Amino acid sequence: MGVIYKTEEEIELLRESSLLVGKTLAEVAKILKPGVTTLQMDAIAEEFIRDHGAKPTFKGYDGFPGSLCTSVNEVVVHGIPDNKPLENGDIVSVDCGVFMNGFNGDSAYTFKVGEVSNQVNQLLEVTKESLNKAIEQCVEGNRVGDIGSAVQTYAESYGYGIVRELVGHGLGKDLHEAPEVPNYGKAGRGLKLKNGLVIAIEPMVTMGDRRIKQLRDGWSIVTFDGLPAAHFEHDVAIINGRTEVLSTFKYIEEVLNN
Ligand code: MG
Ligand code: MG
Repeated sequence: MGVIYKTEEEIELLRESSLLVGKTLAEVAKILKPGVTTLQMDAIAEEFIRDHGAKPTFKGYDGFPGSLCTSVNEVVVHGIPDNKPLENGDIVSVDCGVFMNGFNGDSAYTFKVGEVSNQVNQLLEVTKESLNKAIEQCVEGNRVGDIGSAVQTYAESYGYGIVRELVGHGLGKDLHEAPEVPNYGKAGRGLKLKNGLVIAIEPMVTMGDRRIKQLRDGWSIVTFDGLPAAHFEHDVAIINGRTEVLSTFKYIEEVLNN
């Protein structure tokens, strides 16, 4: 399937879905502390999403059991919510998708549980900043390769790894549309960015080696070397040649800074 470019009206609907994801992640942030389970987080998220007249996109997606992907420490993405209590020093990537008014929102944030080591803290800061570097590239006339190159150049300058097998994606009526948006690549290569393009950019950055494997649960993607990984995701549109970030971490950070 080719790229489906969106009208400004459609982009406003995508923004509403993306904002609901940000608010849902903030609800999760409110309860997150050592001792809480990812299943408890999942229940809070599902209820909040449904209370807003939306559906949790991930639930039942290819049979996925949760409303959230909760990926702890060495789990990079696609972790299944479970009843194991989170511990002080853990990190957990919480990825959430909602479907509302015909359009999807999809955003992820990696949270600290209690106090984390300085090393882990830097991994989170660099991964989040690599997403900002990628977003800066989302202007008309640039190419998909500029996005990946920005993430890769920044994260690798800290000695971190960039997961290759999983990528960002177009976003619309479907959760995963064309184009693929890798977190690595060469500047100046790939699809040209133009008005109406809506993509989810989601760097997955490893503290050690970039190689991954899938667990036998059929979902969880973990680092091969067992070192932690971080993941942040924003939904971004190009309107009038400029970047519009549709999702937001504002609500999350209001909770975290309280
Ligand atoms: Mg996501
Ligand atoms: Mg995504």
